[in-house]
Amino acid sequence: MTTITKVMNNKTAIVPVRGMMENVMEQFNKASNQINLNPDIRKILSITNNEIIIHFPVKMDDGSIEVFTGYRVQHNNALGPYKGGLRYHPTVDIDAARALAMWMTWKTSLAGLPYGGGKGGIQIDPTKYSKGELERITRRFTFALADNIGPEHDIPAPDVNTNSQTMAWIADTYMSTRPPAERSANQHIVTGKPAGSGGLEGRDRATGYGVYLTIKYWSTNNNQILKGKRFIVQGFGNVGYWAAHFLEKEGAKLVAVQDAFGSLQNPKGIDVEALFNYANNNKGSIVDFPEAAVLDKNDFFAVDCDICIPAALGNQITKETAPKIKAKLVAEGANGPTNVEGEQVLLQRGVTIIPDILCNSGGVIASYFEWLQNRNGELWHMEEVIDKLERKLKNSFDRVSEYAQKEGVDMRTAAYCLAIERIEQAYVQRGIFP
Ligand code: NAD
Repeated sequence: MTTITKVMNNKTAIVPVRGMMENVMEQFNKASNQINLNPDIRKILSITNNEIIIHFPVKMDDGSIEVFTGYRVQHNNALGPYKGGLRYHPTVDIDAARALAMWMTWKTSLAGLPYGGGKGGIQIDPTKYSKGELERITRRFTFALADNIGPEHDIPAPDVNTNSQTMAWIADTYMSTRPPAERSANQHIVTGKPAGSGGLEGRDRATGYGVYLTIKYWSTNNNQILKGKRFIVQGFGNVGYWAAHFLEKEGAKLVAVQDAFGSLQNPKGIDVEALFNYANNNKGSIVDFPEAAVLDKNDFFAVDCDICIPAALGNQITKETAPKIKAKLVAEGANGPTNVEGEQVLLQRGVTIIPDILCNSGGVIASYFEWLQNRNGELWHMEEVIDKLERKLKNSFDRVSEYAQKEGVDMRTAAYCLAIERIEQAYVQRGIFP
């Protein structure tokens, strides 16, 4: 159990907080029991392979030096190189990095990719730093990570508060520190790069498009159409925006949205593109958007709707917020947005959850395409990317749905069972060195 220190009535109290790691372990144990996982392999998968914590100095704009703390956790690489994002947020710590790395292992396995799982980031509030400072922080972190990452070893990608620009800085720093003749051969050190710098056409929208596709597949399986459906989105960043964009195109209506700065609602529908343009000119914030009413942040999950898309941080749907949710479908754009207690409440109420490791896997699938493109010196077109992404996601979705139905389990347990079985098979076939 993680703890936080709170000052109340001038007294300091240690308050227990349910950590992300506890959630992912409970989910893992539930699925491992379901498939009767080999106990030795359970031991291996219960713990991370490597954990790197780095303190590194950076010169600020005013000439002072600040020391930052960065993390990279490599959970498992039985199926291939570690793969997973880098997050810049005050909540980044070793517990969060471990849990997020573990989720990546299950996600890449479920998607059938030749990858393991890793995750990391820096414990900062990026809004407090200039662009120049963020560039120096990113480059120095990359330099400090050195050969702990690598295009055939551990391949980072964007996550909360990091984007294609961040990836361009990482790629440039990593390549610049290689011997000259090897530089170009290392472009696939990160994915999610800008299209002009080795990035993949369509990578920007891939995660949100995948969230939309899984919602569409679920609706089709349940004889429903998306036209006219009302949805709410928590987090209006890369994932939240693109998911909303594609749902709106299909005729669904965004009726409430929340970001780190505020919450808005409009039962008649919020124009997704207008909100996106507004936020882009408002330092990324949705606050004061004129075509929607302000909503109390505690009332966000209680808004009447058909589909709820958490696309921000972990641990948002809990035993406190889950009872408020009106939607019949929760599509997890974020990683770990629903904790175990929140999930129990939703499942008891008959709410379907499309689990994160399936719902937001479009991002890592497109990252794999970018990695392949760089590795093979190819350039793929948007249509090709979208077509391949749809085929892979549909395959994952159908396998999870069929497993859930056949075994009488929820979709998360089904997704975990399929993911873990694939890794178990690799260990059984190869054995343990020496
Ligand atoms: P982002 O930085 O682009 O956007 C994050 C959004 O969440 C912003 O709108 C921010 O204001 C909002 N937010 C932050 N704290 C919040 C809070 N306390 N309450 C409400 N909103 C808050 O990040 P992103 O890339 O869209 O990632 C969002 C989630 O999706 C994360 O959980 C991430 O791990 C997951 N994810 C991202 C990708 C990807 O390709 N970017 C892939 C898979 C999963």
